[in-house]
Amino acid sequence: MKKKAENYIINGKEFSLFMPQTEIIQIVSNLAERINYDYKDKSPTCILIMKGSVFFGADLMRLLTIDCRLESIRSSSYGNRMESSGKVNIQISDLNIKDKDILIVEDIVDSGRTLKALLVQLNALLPKSIQTVSFLSKPDKRKVNVDVKYIGKEIIPVFVIGYGLDYDEQGRHLPNLYAYV
Ligand code: 5GP
Ligand code: MG
Repeated sequence: MKKKAENYIINGKEFSLFMPQTEIIQIVSNLAERINYDYKDKSPTCILIMKGSVFFGADLMRLLTIDCRLESIRSSSYGNRMESSGKVNIQISDLNIKDKDILIVEDIVDSGRTLKALLVQLNALLPKSIQTVSFLSKPDKRKVNVDVKYIGKEIIPVFVIGYGLDYDEQGRHLPNLYAYV
């Protein structure tokens, strides 16, 4: 990863500023406010989908004033490309969510395939309720119909990195979002 003026170059592809940290903080705080209100009498288990939602999940959960718990599972579909492979790889190990209120914490919903596959597998473990919070969504890229209750921001169909999102495992640590356009 190389820096070129305000842009980053990864594997020869140039990414430019798409969303500054100030806007990210605002989006996360709006989501937390909605969740605090809706779950005020509940104690949800937040399941962070790794690795993409690690920063979002950490920031969001620290703004939750309700009683909540943290779990994580890994999923991958992009590999080192910018388009979802369509094949979703989910690793659910010893997750006990029976009769619990579940909040899936995602970085971004694109085709919707990852979330759909996750919902099928998690619902099979018989949670009491299950909802999803996603930092970003690309509605124009949706291939399957999936319900996302809390969406931080809908964006145009560009490939973004930063704030947990990577390109070929690079760029996750950037505090702003950058897009390949
Ligand atoms: P979907 O299954 O909805 O097509 O893709 C969801 C997953 O693909 C996300 O959880 C994320 O890991 C990855 N993804 C989707 N869009 C982007 C993007 O613009 N940038 C990055 N870095 N990852 C993305
Ligand atoms: Mg993800």
